[in-house]
Amino acid sequence: MKTSVISTFDTNQAAAAGAKIIRAGGLVAFPTETVYGLGADGLNGEAVNRIFEAKGRPNDNPLILHVAQKADAFRLWDGEPPFARALMDTFWPGPLTLIYHRSPLVPDEVTAGLSTVAVRMPNNEAARALIAASGVPIAAPSANLSGKPSPTRAEHVLQDMDGRIPLILDGGPCRYGVESTVLSLTGTPTILRPGAVTKEMLAAVLGEVALAPSILAPLGAGEKAASPGMKYKHYAPNAQVLVVVGEPKAAAARISALYDQFAGAGKRVRIAATAEAAPFYGSRSIALLGTRQDPTTLCSRLFGLLRELDREADVILCEGVGTQGTGLAFMNRLLRSAGFHVEYLP
Ligand code: AMP
Ligand code: MG
Repeated sequence: MKTSVISTFDTNQAAAAGAKIIRAGGLVAFPTETVYGLGADGLNGEAVNRIFEAKGRPNDNPLILHVAQKADAFRLWDGEPPFARALMDTFWPGPLTLIYHRSPLVPDEVTAGLSTVAVRMPNNEAARALIAASGVPIAAPSANLSGKPSPTRAEHVLQDMDGRIPLILDGGPCRYGVESTVLSLTGTPTILRPGAVTKEMLAAVLGEVALAPSILAPLGAGEKAASPGMKYKHYAPNAQVLVVVGEPKAAAARISALYDQFAGAGKRVRIAATAEAAPFYGSRSIALLGTRQDPTTLCSRLFGLLRELDREADVILCEGVGTQGTGLAFMNRLLRSAGFHVEYLP
């Protein structure tokens, strides 16, 4: 299959080209404000199955349905989720996915057999134009091969999906670069996956919000993931990622020692550093992630940098940061990409 890439500069033309494929049951990769999505007609189980095939995604990992307007979400749920209106008024369109009991309209393939469905309205004009032109909710996970870092540029999608899908809509780099916050509303509001809509922002609307335990820790043996996506090795480049969490000077000292050790053993090593620690790496070459003061930017650069460093390294040594605000989303993705190989310095 030949994969075409067209710009979303002409939004309507791009949406029309994509919608033609979506309506025929095919796959289209498209930009959102979080990461690139791999979309199919969300009401057509056969079309949705093609997403799992193209990604090599385990078929027990459910997808998110994307809608072009708020009203369309309510057809997909069985009744109105508690807090939904307030959350949608505050955060939609935006990087917040809401989970609630599914309506009979939603095919099993989307929810991987679960009784709940995840819905979101993206804050990206090209994405919403594609959904509106298709006339159906679009089921979409991230447009990477299963397990790889999520694509934040059209060229990342092409790296993973060339020959597997007919069309990529190129809308340039994604604003946030990490996937949406996933919030379950079936019981006590619980964050299953952190994103750019933070715990603090949700608490301002909800009062109380819980965090799923799997956000910063691997699942224990026999433990059940609230969100099936959390149980897989995820966001991982081919290189081994090792994380060190600590004050800038101490983290740089530890990473420098690891660097010398791996380099001495003949490994190709790269360092992903924050601006605060950058002065403490001596002559070792570093790739700059951004400043610890701005974890949102760290998030937006993480997946792209992992893909870049992966081309030239066997081992990637990366600084961790605090988990306030969007730092939680950053650490959630980074620890998974490292398979939880992390050192917390005193
Ligand atoms: P992706 O955006 O590629 O990471 O895929 C969608 C994410 O949403 C995965 O982590 C899924 O596990 C999660 N998800 C989708 N639907 C549900 C659901 N009904 N319950 C819990 N998690 C869900
Ligand atoms: Mg994904």
